[in-house]
Amino acid sequence: MLLQNWWYTTLIGTKRSIQPPLKDDRRCDVLVIGGGAAGLAAASRLAGSGKKVVLVEKNICGGSSTGKSAGFLTPDSELELSQLVRRFGVQGAKDLWDVPVRGISLMLDMMKSGGFDCDLQKQDSLFLGKGPKGFKAVEEEAESRRTLGYGSRVYEGSELGSVLGSVGYSSAIRYEGTYGVDGLRYAQGLKGALLDKGVEVYESSEVLKFSGHTATTHMGSVTADQVVFCADKLSPALSPYSWNVYHEQTFLSITEPLSEREQRSLFPQQPLQCWDSDLVYSYFRLTGAKRLLLGGGSLLTTYAKNDATTARVIDHVIGGFRHMFPNLGGVKFTQYWMGRIDMTRDLLPTVLREPRAPWVHHVLGCVGLPWATFCGDFAARQVLAEKETGDEKYYAYFDAERKFLVPIWLERAIGKRLAFPINNAWAKYYQRDVRHGHPSSASPWAAASP
Ligand SMILES: Cc1cc2nc3c(=O)[nH]c(=O)nc-3n(C[C@H](O)[C@H](O)[C@H](O)COP(=O)(O)OP(=O)(O)OC[C@H]3O[C@@H](n4cnc5c(N)ncnc54)[C@H](O)[C@@H]3O)c2cc1C
Repeated sequence: MLLQNWWYTTLIGTKRSIQPPLKDDRRCDVLVIGGGAAGLAAASRLAGSGKKVVLVEKNICGGSSTGKSAGFLTPDSELELSQLVRRFGVQGAKDLWDVPVRGISLMLDMMKSGGFDCDLQKQDSLFLGKGPKGFKAVEEEAESRRTLGYGSRVYEGSELGSVLGSVGYSSAIRYEGTYGVDGLRYAQGLKGALLDKGVEVYESSEVLKFSGHTATTHMGSVTADQVVFCADKLSPALSPYSWNVYHEQTFLSITEPLSEREQRSLFPQQPLQCWDSDLVYSYFRLTGAKRLLLGGGSLLTTYAKNDATTARVIDHVIGGFRHMFPNLGGVKFTQYWMGRIDMTRDLLPTVLREPRAPWVHHVLGCVGLPWATFCGDFAARQVLAEKETGDEKYYAYFDAERKFLVPIWLERAIGKRLAFPINNAWAKYYQRDVRHGHPSSASPWAAASP
């Protein structure tokens, strides 16, 4: 297997060329730093406002997580609905589930208005329970969906064969309104749409220094009235909030196109996007070209300090898949790659305006393309003072100072590497905090509206 991000191959033959780096000193109304799902969504909202907008991207747009992702557009990115209900109560869960649902809708709108192709596939989500624990997880998910009035269909293990060619799962829950996408082509397509709207986009332009209103790259600078930081893997030198973000490593692999027989053996009715109930879960779906995309990881590498590039981890994931789908034993995986997903201690994003520099906005730790899209758009709406009804309810959730099990002072003593999995597991499996979801008058936006 070749260590290479498959999505780069899919850029061959696309119309848009890579944009040249920033080479001079520019001025603009709003500068967006980072061209992933969040930065592109922010720039997209700003583009229609009449303001002069510049976007600078260190790599190419989509060159980090967005363009490495498996492209599942589902509200359930790491945060299951039942976990949200336990953590924030029914109304809080509804408010938060709404975030990625609106993110997906924004993405579809931008694809439509931009008129670009990014291999959009309508694929229902299928969450697969493994063993008795997985059975319970599916039951809890079904119960939460019923409570919130969201439609779904539950399959007992014996019924699953009608939609999935495996007898290894204990049960599953399926729901619609979800899609698969090529994240790199999405980002590049959206970049093209932004250029058409007059946004200046500079690729290969890493912001090395930020001071006052000015961001400096290796060959130029941009001075802006307002700045939206949507960059990942931030260093403390660039952002006071870099301590808020952690990274979780995941691996992906892709096969040659499956034959008709193999496709039917995997999905007897129609392609679905699937993930299982394991702590470090495996996930799979078909691309438009009927290649099987399979992802996963291991407990050790998920939280590891350094990138693990060995094929051993994904080989293990592939082995697990072959065990569950013995009829697909002959399918050949050709490429694999890995990436680190930025996230916060409790898996909710941090989106705020800097209290001491209210012209600087930060979007950090968004887990999932739909979350990143909503949050980028949200920050841009705050820049434009175009708040929508109900925006206030998100201030408390997205606040950098929200409560965590291991507080910052203790984290400094025990180290980020230990504090992160503890906070993460606490949020996912134990946190109960139904006080959230109420407008916070202490929010940075309430205090410093433009
Ligand atoms: C392997 C993998 C699989 C995934 N699968 C899925 C999935 O199936 N579905 C899903 O919803 N999510 C998935 N995710 C998560 C998802 O990709 C991310 O949550 C999402 O892309 C975050 O978007 P973002 O814009 O916040 O960050 P990014 O996409 O990381 O964008 C940040 C951008 O900032 C740029 N940047 C960084 N520093 C600077 C600087 N100093 N100057 C200028 N630019 C800078 C980076 O180059 C990057 O392009 C996956 C992630 C990985 C790694």
